[in-house]
Amino acid sequence: MRAKTNRHGVCPICRRPPPEGAEATRFRPFCSRRCADIDLHRWLTGAYRVDGDQASGEEGRGHGAAPET
Ligand SMILES: [Zn+2]
Repeated sequence: MRAKTNRHGVCPICRRPPPEGAEATRFRPFCSRRCADIDLHRWLTGAYRVDGDQASGEEGRGHGAAPET
């Protein structure tokens, strides 16, 4: 068991160690934009059906008649 190539991990898509370079590090943990797109596509098609409404955070904001006494 040689854990030699386990510095930065591997790309979860193609299971290859990401190349070095400023351009490549932008897509970490993926090795390239291609793999990042693949993962994004998987995420969109697989786990996008979230029945959550987190966009509405303005409720009860001076809405209605507050009893003033
Ligand atoms: Zn990859």
